[in-house]
Amino acid sequence: MVFLNGEFIEKNQAHISVMDRGFLFGDGVYEVIPVYNNKIFRLNAHLLRLQASLNSIKIKNPYNPQKWSDILNKLLSFCNNQEQSIYLQISRGVSSKRKHSFNDLAPTVYIESNPLQSKTKQALKAGFSAITQPDIRWHRCDIKSTSLLANIMYSQQAKEKNVEEVILYRGNQVTEGATSNVFIIKNGTLFTHPISTHILPGITRDLVLESARKCHIPIKKTSFSINELNTADELWISSSTREIMPITQVDGKLINRGNIGNAWSCVYDYYQNLKNA
Ligand code: PLP
Repeated sequence: MVFLNGEFIEKNQAHISVMDRGFLFGDGVYEVIPVYNNKIFRLNAHLLRLQASLNSIKIKNPYNPQKWSDILNKLLSFCNNQEQSIYLQISRGVSSKRKHSFNDLAPTVYIESNPLQSKTKQALKAGFSAITQPDIRWHRCDIKSTSLLANIMYSQQAKEKNVEEVILYRGNQVTEGATSNVFIIKNGTLFTHPISTHILPGITRDLVLESARKCHIPIKKTSFSINELNTADELWISSSTREIMPITQVDGKLINRGNIGNAWSCVYDYYQNLKNA
């Protein structure tokens, strides 16, 4: 079952107009929200970010938070798995002419949910690889836009190179991953790019910071260079579907001689507590 414009229907019955601006222009925003033990994790934070994305592109939020919660929970009632990943997208709607500028339209709302399989700590301890690339994206990466061409190009590169993620840099400063936020540990301190228009304000990023505080790890929300990344003691990426993954190899070079760090282990454990709280 999926949700489309007020109705719960079979996915193969869900259709949108070719004049939908989401289809024509990628004129829309989205959210990905994890569900653990049948409970939507950090729904309020996701709804706040959704509101910020909508405000930035002048789409009126079609529902209030209670209505969103009701719709999402109803959709989940059709799902069997206790762990899910909800995908919701709002496009500006269907226009009569293909024109870049817009009038007020009824937004198109589409939601689906799919089983989520979190990796075990044991599996994560194997470590993952990444490559680095210049950040060619626009200057409003804070908007969770459905226009994802650059991210698609990076993710395809990651797939072809058989690595987990592409880590991006502007100038020589690391911004984030193509589909994640990025963190390093250097001499016991956690560094991550500050909130700005050059990164998505990840919900998991906030949870990583919350967990790091519990682990008494000092935090600096300042950017770091590619060189600092290469010589980091630990390197992690975070996202709602991948949680917190240790990266032990970048561009073919080992981080911390390929070892998983203690800071990651502590932060991972606190994150699991938050998930199961
Ligand atoms: N940065 C980018 C570019 C992303 O696409 C994502 C998630 O898809 C994130 C960061 C992490 O955000 P969140 O933790 O809210 O999933």
